[in-house]
Formats: sequence, C-alpha cells, structure tokens
Amino acid sequence: MQEGKARYYRRPPQLLKRNESTLNFTPASSEAAPRLARIIPRDGHSISRSRISPDALRVLYRLREAGFQAFLVGGCVRDLMLGLEPKDFDVATDALPEQVKRLFRNCRLVGRRFRLAHVFFGRDIIEVATFRASGAPLPADEPVPTRDELDEVEGGESADSDTTDGDVAEANAVMDPLADSRDVHDFDESLERVVDESGRILRDNIYGSIDDDVWRRDFTCNALYYNIADFSVWDYCGGFEDVAARRLRLIGDPETRYREDPVRMLRAARFEAKLGFSIETATAEPIARLSDLLAGVPAARLFDETLKLFLTGHGARSYAVLKQRGLLEVLLPNLAAFVRRHPGSAPERMLIRGLENTDARVLADKPVTPAFLFALLIYGPVGVEIEKAPRTRWNEIGTILDAVDQAMRVIQPRVAVHRRFVLGLRDMFALQPRLEAPRGRRALRTLEHPRFRAGFDLLQLRAEFGMADAGIVRWWEQMQTANPQQRAALSEASAGAPAAGGAGGEAAGRRRGRRRGRGGRGRGGGGGS
Ligand code: ATP
Ligand code: MG
Repeated sequence: MQEGKARYYRRPPQLLKRNESTLNFTPASSEAAPRLARIIPRDGHSISRSRISPDALRVLYRLREAGFQAFLVGGCVRDLMLGLEPKDFDVATDALPEQVKRLFRNCRLVGRRFRLAHVFFGRDIIEVATFRASGAPLPADEPVPTRDELDEVEGGESADSDTTDGDVAEANAVMDPLADSRDVHDFDESLERVVDESGRILRDNIYGSIDDDVWRRDFTCNALYYNIADFSVWDYCGGFEDVAARRLRLIGDPETRYREDPVRMLRAARFEAKLGFSIETATAEPIARLSDLLAGVPAARLFDETLKLFLTGHGARSYAVLKQRGLLEVLLPNLAAFVRRHPGSAPERMLIRGLENTDARVLADKPVTPAFLFALLIYGPVGVEIEKAPRTRWNEIGTILDAVDQAMRVIQPRVAVHRRFVLGLRDMFALQPRLEAPRGRRALRTLEHPRFRAGFDLLQLRAEFGMADAGIVRWWEQMQTANPQQRAALSEASAGAPAAGGAGGEAAGRRRGRRRGRGGRGRGGGGGS
C-alpha cells in the first residue's frame, strides 16, 4: 500500500469482486452511513416508491441485491419531494461501470473519460453513474446516447418505430440533440487508477464514494440521495431544507462554481423558471457579472441547454427569467437587442404567446420542434434585417431568406442549431408570402408542402398579433378541412384574387393594404406593435 510501490495500472482494468474493492465504498445498507450526511428516515420525508418509475426501482433493487449501494439522485429526488413527475430517474452507485454492465443484459456503457451505464427499458433509459471522485469530469459532461446506440441495444425498440410524420421524428430528435455533435476525447481510464503490486486499487481519480460525489453537484436541491436500502434520504449540504423552502443555492462558493462551469448560470435560470424557486442572493449575485463567460461554452452544449429552457414546458417563464437576469444577451444577442429596443412590440408578444402555446403542447404530450422555436426566437431580428432592403422587396422570398440567414449567423456561434432545424425554419419563413397570397393550383401545392403545418401555425400567430391578415388564416383553415372538390374550387377562386371573392379574395384584398406587415413589422417604425 506504500505510495512507492504503487504503479499506474496499464492493463485493462479487471473487474473487482465486491469484497475486493479497496476504495472504501461504504456498504450498501445505511448502517454504514457517512459521517457528514444528515439521514432523513422514511417517515421524515414524502417520497413514496409508488411514484418512482418501476424500471428505476428494478435497477436500484438489482444493484442492492448484488451488494452495492444504490441511490436515486439529482433532479428526480428533488421533483419527488416537490410532488412533481420527474423527467428522468438517475441512479448513483458504488458499483463500477463494468460491474453494472454485468448485472443488466440491456445495458450499455457510454462515455470515455467517465463511463456511465445506460440500462434500457424499451425507449426509456435509466442512467447509472458510479460515484464520482473529485478528479472526475463534471456530471454535465455525460454523453447522451445516439440514435444508433438506442437502435443497437438488444430489446430496444427502433427509435423510429412509432413515428408517423416528420414533426414527431423531429420532436424525438430533441431527446438527443447533441448525439452527433458531442465532443468525445480519447481517454485511457487506466492512467487514472493507481494500484499496488497485487492490482489492488489505491486511488482512483475518476470513481469515488458518495462523500466525493456530492460536492461535484451543482445546487443543493440537486444533491439529495434516496437510498433504496431503507428508503431514507441522505443530505450533505442542506438541500432538504432548501427544497422545502423552494430555494436555489449553489454548493460551495458561487463565483468559483460558475467559473468552473458557466452553464450553471443557465441551469439556475432554468430551475428558477421550472420550479418557481427563488435564487438565494449569493447564488444570484455573480450572474450579472459573469454571464459573459457563457460565450466560452461550446455552442453545441448551449443548444442543448436552450432546448431544455424552452421546450420542456416552462419556455415562457424561461424567457422572462433569462431577460431579467441578463442571460438573453449572451445566448441570443440579436433577440436581446431587439426586445431592448422594442419592448412589448408585436413580435415580442407573439414570441411569448408562441412559447406559451409550446408549453401547453408539452404539458399535453404533443410533439414540439426546435425549428418552430427558433423561428419564434429570430422573428423580430429577421424583421429588422428585412427592413434594411427596399420596401418593394420585403415580400420576396430571397429577401426573407437572406434575413433569416443573417439572423441565424448571429445566433450560431452561441447556440449551434442543427442544420435540419435551420432548414425547417427557413421553409417556414419562405412559406409566409405563399400563404399570404394563395394563387390557384399553387395553393394546392402549398398545402402539400412538408412544412405547411408549421408555416401555417406561424401565419396564424402573426395574424393574432396583427402581422398577417386574419381572413387569409380562415381561408387556409377552410382549405384544410375541405374535400378535394371543395379545395379545387377554393384554389380556383383564389386564382383571380383579389377579385375572386370569398374568404380568399376578401383576405387577399385586405392583405394588400397590410402586406408590409411581414417579418418583424410591428417593431421599429412599423405598424402592428
Ligand atoms: P431536470 O432533469 O429536471 O432538468 P436535473 O437536476 O435532473 O434536472 P440533469 O441535467 O438531469 O438535471 O442533471 C442530473 C444531475 O446531475 C443534477 O441534478 C446535478 O446533480 C448534476 N448536474 C448536472 N449538470 C451539472 C453541472 N453543470 N454541474 C454540476 N452538477 C450537475
Ligand atoms: Mg434529470
């Protein structure tokens, strides 16, 4: 055990039998509770097993039966305490990843520097993480399984098996937005492990005990552990009281923790928006000073965070919090500049309404798409760009797409929006003049456009805020519910617009006077705001 005899372990790490471990992992039962944690027994908290996913319980019990510690940890414990339905269930254990893999047939190890076990149950994944040592990468650096990985896993359903249309497929893509862009480094795990001559582990820079693991976490409310051995909750840093008081508090020195990982500022905003927690003063204070550090975070990760902020059911509140805390400036600088110059304008009100609609869809388990979200987020800035062109060209598709591309060029260095979503939102913008001026058979083709529904939804929102004609929205509603003969008649009538009469003609006629209301009309000198 002397340091002198230690050597770096260079052959593939062998699996340790449970009783061979020398990492001082505490035994599974709570008899060996750590000195520093406060243990809240089952009758001292409100977490009931009936609200834990059966799959997560299966994983916890199997680990426990094999003699390992097994805890639920992170957001799921916090949400269970709050009476909310957790988004996912994360498990923390003292079993090494290879040991976890041996226990579950439907398991894959992912990640290089810090390996995690993903246990698959159909489309659901229970993530099992070995306790991190202080030298381990941040929890936030955990890899997300790729679509291929999901497909490959034995017993896993095909990721596309229940998709019926492009929107649903795209919505599913939200689940692993970084799958193909995540930066994975080559890493030799064996170099992190110091063993003695007999192969016994003396020190492991990657895997540790629960006492190490807890200090790696961000907020106190995210650092509670639910022990399957006796259903108690282990609390090292006052998270239990903080959840009860709905208070968000960083573990450790806030400035240090933000510098270590600036994304924690966005996470603070997200939890404030999602949970309605108040951010404790010492945790809130550095945000305004340090927000610029977010510019140094990989844009792929910020895309991931942006989706979590806006597409998980509390987007409208996230927008308000980001604005209030000065974080919008770093994430979406052109939107921030636009709303600063045109507070309460029609495009901003439309954005908020669009986010509220999206929140309602999420709550109703309907698909949502990043393409629509980013169309809303850039709508104001796109209008500003359009208005740089001569007025006579504002409705030309070329002008509109140039403006969209310019707005996206400002965003992309911060938030790397995947190409397929950019193509989607370009289509939505390009459809607007076609939707506003339906002409004969072309209207029938527009109806068949793969992006018609998203484009129409945008048109409808614009009309709601006086930026498009309500009559034309009604005309398209009729078109969508009409049978083929009625459609042909409606589109024919629109061929002679504005003299065609009916909703189309009337709408087209009224639209004439308002057409300059595209893009961001409503801000700047425009009407509609
Ligand atoms: P939700 O899943 O509801 O969005 P969450 O708290 O579970 O919230 P996740 O991103 O799923 O958030 O992360 C799981 C846990 O990992 C967190 O609760 C926290 O303990 C830890 N964690 C995640 N990101 C970080 C980070 N950037 N720094 C430190 N710990 C983190
Ligand atoms: Mg979570």
